[in-house]
Amino acid sequence: MEDLHRANIKRSLYDCLTMNAEQYSQFLSEIEKLASLNVGDKVYFRGLIELSNICVKNCYYCGIRRGNTNVHRYQLPIEDVMSAVEISFQQHYGSIVIQAGERSDSVFVDYISKILRAVKHKYGGQIGITLSLGEQSRETLKEWFELGAHRYLLRIETSNKELYQKWHPNNSLHDYDKRLETLHLLRELGYQVGTGVLIGGPFQTVDNLVDDLLFFKEIDVDMVGMGPFISHPNTPFYNKLETNADLRSRYDLALRMISALRWLMPNINIAAATSLQAIDPMGREMAVKAGANIIMPNVTPQTSRVDYQLYPNKPCIDEEAWECKGCLDARLSMVDRCVGYDELGDSPHFFERL
Ligand code: SAM
Ligand code: SF4
Repeated sequence: MEDLHRANIKRSLYDCLTMNAEQYSQFLSEIEKLASLNVGDKVYFRGLIELSNICVKNCYYCGIRRGNTNVHRYQLPIEDVMSAVEISFQQHYGSIVIQAGERSDSVFVDYISKILRAVKHKYGGQIGITLSLGEQSRETLKEWFELGAHRYLLRIETSNKELYQKWHPNNSLHDYDKRLETLHLLRELGYQVGTGVLIGGPFQTVDNLVDDLLFFKEIDVDMVGMGPFISHPNTPFYNKLETNADLRSRYDLALRMISALRWLMPNINIAAATSLQAIDPMGREMAVKAGANIIMPNVTPQTSRVDYQLYPNKPCIDEEAWECKGCLDARLSMVDRCVGYDELGDSPHFFERL
């Protein structure tokens, strides 16, 4: 019986990813109602701080991989981090996300702890803190949680272990099982747990994506951030697949993934990935229409944004952080949504599972 139920869900997800445009636009009106009922009509902002592009890993798809020697490496000093937090606070974003390349050495771990202490000291619990800093040890994650980080984003990238191995070098730094274990660990430690996948990457099939959606449900995540793969010229995956038609279909597929996930897990937080906006200027707003309820405006100092290029065509490189808000407000009103200013906008699913 259970198998039959799973098979039916699988079929519905597959249909959602492959239905024609007219059917999808009808499905979208259902999704809008579902989102409104389960996560409300508001969109929540997280000020995104791209803390550092120094990374020990070499993921084949990523522009800041260790092997790309054309990147100018940086780490924001604490003054710049604190002014990015202040901008988020002044703009009433309610939360920040601190993201960086992966490092687990003690100097880096201590630096994050220092930032968390400073944020806690200045803002108390007035601003939500999400980390996206890759795989870390139990001790590190526990320390950061105790210092006030309460959400963590760690994309599994693909839930298919064989595909994961095709997307990463074959060594202990890039271990699917460890990534999965870290997701379980985060949950055990009390974080709101977010994961996600790359959409339309080399060798990936629609069946893989359906399995990814089922994976999110199986591990019972609180938040998902997923976006289209965009190939970067200084990576091994450059031109593995690259035509404009491909890029557009990856974009469409990413929007459908969001809708399918909203249908499957109605009360989780779903982020509108910035990579959607790199393909279409209205990408993030279209993601909100498709079922997303989180947007991460960039608050990184403009001078460093240019060095944090995971993929080409990164949007908003030339803008200062304060310019983003007015622009986003206007764009969101185009899709009939308002912003939950000064609200944490935690995942309702997290409280339900507690
Ligand atoms: N280093 C941490 C990690 O990998 O978990 C966090 C930062 S990493 C840059 C954030 C995300 O960027 C990755 O999870 C990956 O999915 C995404 N990313 C990297 N290269 C990309 C590309 N070429 N196109 C789209 N997204 C990409
Ligand atoms: Fe490093 Fe994350 Fe890029 Fe992989 S995806 S190379 S871990 S920054």
